[in-house]
Amino acid sequence: MDTVLNLVHHNLHELRVDDARMLFHIPTSSLFAVDELTAALIDRIRRGSHSAEALVQGLGQRFAAADISETLRDLMALEFVSDGRPASAPAAARTVDTFPLSTVVLNVNTGCNLSCTYCYKEDLDKPSAGRKMAFETARDSIEMLLRESPDETRYNVVFFGGEPLSNLPLIKEVVAYCEARFPALGKQVDFVMTTNATMLSEATIDWLNAHRFGLSISIDGPKAIHDRNRLTVNGQGTYETVRRKAERLLSRYDARPVGARVTLTRGTTEVERIWDHLFNELGFAEVGFAPVTSGDISTFNLTEAELVAVFAGMKRLGERYLEEALAGRNIGFSNLHQLITDLHEGHKKALPCGAGLKMLAVDHKGELNLCHRFTGSSLPTFGNVRDGIKREELGSFLSQRLDREGTGCETCRIRNLCSGGCYHESYARYGDPAHPTYHYCDLMRDWVDFGITVYSRIMAGNPAFIEQHITPRSAK
Ligand code: SF4
Ligand code: SF4
Repeated sequence: MDTVLNLVHHNLHELRVDDARMLFHIPTSSLFAVDELTAALIDRIRRGSHSAEALVQGLGQRFAAADISETLRDLMALEFVSDGRPASAPAAARTVDTFPLSTVVLNVNTGCNLSCTYCYKEDLDKPSAGRKMAFETARDSIEMLLRESPDETRYNVVFFGGEPLSNLPLIKEVVAYCEARFPALGKQVDFVMTTNATMLSEATIDWLNAHRFGLSISIDGPKAIHDRNRLTVNGQGTYETVRRKAERLLSRYDARPVGARVTLTRGTTEVERIWDHLFNELGFAEVGFAPVTSGDISTFNLTEAELVAVFAGMKRLGERYLEEALAGRNIGFSNLHQLITDLHEGHKKALPCGAGLKMLAVDHKGELNLCHRFTGSSLPTFGNVRDGIKREELGSFLSQRLDREGTGCETCRIRNLCSGGCYHESYARYGDPAHPTYHYCDLMRDWVDFGITVYSRIMAGNPAFIEQHITPRSAK
């Protein structure tokens, strides 16, 4: 009982939200409200090393001995407090050798009918020169998915480009194939597509609706912003067309909520104005923001000052999200909504996203890429749909990111939410997808603290919002 106890700073991040003290459990990204006894224990241990016995004695006037011991046991089980013995076995060098794929992304055409100035796609072609995926390649991709990962119950087929609607006949063939193949195996399949909307006719909208596509529309905001970069091949702005088509889509699409996907690029940081236009004026169900990750054309990447402005705008929009959430409304700010979901569900991400693990992207030749952003890039591919995954190469790539030893991520307090950041951002910025995205760590940490504050306030003021709008834990 004389063993000295210490705080495990590596696992603990404390924040004050209004009058409450919150403990963020770094290993699981979970949040705990600190009660009076826990606060007293943490403060004493922080001030100096104590044995459990000394703590029970010192706090015995204010709390029952049994409560003190039980709370200490809880803090030790969570590894917030340690008596020097390793509470859990040190993580063995982990390697990835299984790939629980549930999603395949089909790059159905390298061609795009637009010519957005910042486009990151290294394989992008003008419409006439677009290289289209053949049905056999698409079919082999589906079969590869089922072969490599036969035990899933639900699969996703994502159509990407270029502009995917520029190869609608293939998409229709693939959907027909999947709708026969998956149910015959007792499995479900969902279809997803991101499109620039310019080729959406009423008939196409109704067809997508009938097959319950999850749709995201690439649109960058009001005309003055959208037309800075989202241009036709002849250099004309596309806002008017996209708006008209998006309005038509939103007026008749009822299979699922439709989201807007905004690319933030140099000179474009007006997060609130863009959200206001897309959510309130056009009526998108949700709006997500992503910084451009142009490789060769890094002049489009946000400057450091712009990244600061973007995060400041995201926090201002986050204040509105909070205000509305407290009144029971969801304003569809997907970046914050996702963070709140991660915190609520206590996500423990060893890797930043499902790329290469749960998802692979197939290019028009049938080669396997980490995700849609890598098709046509100079990064070597990880096999092909006929011969399957190059397991050793892919496993060794993912294992590099799993191993945080010696990196800044090793001790970072958001290591299990950020996990080193997007591979493509790293690839664009450092030429190495395994490199952590160190260029905005402080902003990311501040953003997560902001998310913790918003989540705590919602939990305190209107927990019904979480029940209603966040996927329940049991449904994971
Ligand atoms: S990239 Fe930066 S913010 Fe992300 S986990 Fe690593 S050190 Fe933390
Ligand atoms: S690597 Fe980046 S772009 Fe690709 S799926 Fe992951 S987060 Fe998205």
